Amino acid sequence: MEELRGDCKKSSTPNAPPLPQPRRRISSRKGLVLDGKPLRGCSYVAATTKDLWERMFHEGYRTDVTINTDNGGVIYAHASILGIASPVMKYMLKQSKSRGRRKPISVRGVPHQAVRAFIRFLYSSCYEQEEMNEFILPLLVLSHVFVVPPLKRECERQLENGLLTTDNVIDIFQLSLLCDAPRLSLFCHRLIVKSFLVISSTEGWKVMKQSHPMLEKELLESVIDADTRKQERLKRLDQRKIYLQLYEAMEALVHICRDGCRTIGPHDKVLKEDQPPCSFSACKGLETLVRHFAGCKLRVPGGCVHCKRMWQLLELHSRLCSEPNECKVPLCRTFKERLQQQSKKDEVKWKLLVQNILRAKKLSGPSFFRSSTDVCA
Ligand SMILES: [Zn+2]
Ligand SMILES: [Zn+2]
Ligand SMILES: [Zn+2]
Repeated sequence: MEELRGDCKKSSTPNAPPLPQPRRRISSRKGLVLDGKPLRGCSYVAATTKDLWERMFHEGYRTDVTINTDNGGVIYAHASILGIASPVMKYMLKQSKSRGRRKPISVRGVPHQAVRAFIRFLYSSCYEQEEMNEFILPLLVLSHVFVVPPLKRECERQLENGLLTTDNVIDIFQLSLLCDAPRLSLFCHRLIVKSFLVISSTEGWKVMKQSHPMLEKELLESVIDADTRKQERLKRLDQRKIYLQLYEAMEALVHICRDGCRTIGPHDKVLKEDQPPCSFSACKGLETLVRHFAGCKLRVPGGCVHCKRMWQLLELHSRLCSEPNECKVPLCRTFKERLQQQSKKDEVKWKLLVQNILRAKKLSGPSFFRSSTDVCA
């Protein structure tokens, strides 16, 4: 930093105190080069315009402002540029009493290099990426304090595109609230909720816990809310999976009773040898259940878990079946006829189950059974 301050003084007008260091050399044969290093200056302005403003800043030709920074740092600049680029600078310059040729103003509380990168941006809208990486926090603060929207937008963009990390997110989050950057706040908030375990063990979190306990409380509440929502979403997905499995069992049941499959013949025909491979995923499990149902000694509802399951599947089928007269599934018509005697509570329960199964199927593809209004009527 000392060396850079020396450079700043050296590159200023003849009124600056003489220093032994060599003069800062800026050349433009192959693009701008400062002290042998190419100035990259990420920007969308035409190169010649950009170079002109870059030279204005780096060469410090006829500067009339001294910007004093922390640890005795000095930057020379032009009042007209500063005043036009920042209304706050304009006010500061108005208030400042001239000492000799230059008006002094102070920008303190942030590193000298960050102030230098900030002032350079006011001239040419340029910056070096390394400086942005290192001074993103002070640059965001400076852009807010001195009301420089283009730099603020650029800082936000850089943070959103990679400079925001689990290490700095808590600091940036607090800063985004102070600097009135709602989009950035939202971005930080999302990252905090997403990577809470890592972030809650960072130094930034510990400091915030001490200095802003209310903010910590709010963040913890958000994390709990997000977790609850995630659990609910997973529960809904699990339920949907069960409804889809039931739907597949219903398709397989109709297929077994109508066409026959593997070891079980169709309702009214002989089972053909050399059957094509079965395309119903639930068919094998259902085949075992049907065979058990046919041979079980405790064949009463509630007598055996497997038989009970089969009864439920048969009843569910009759709820979904819209053609009981032609249907080959056992007891389809019997269950339909028994509907009248069912209690209101059971009726609601079954209707809800049928609706959920059909809805889950609708979300995943075309339905084999007709709409629920046909079957629930
Ligand atoms: Zn099959
Ligand atoms: Zn049984
Ligand atoms: Zn049926």
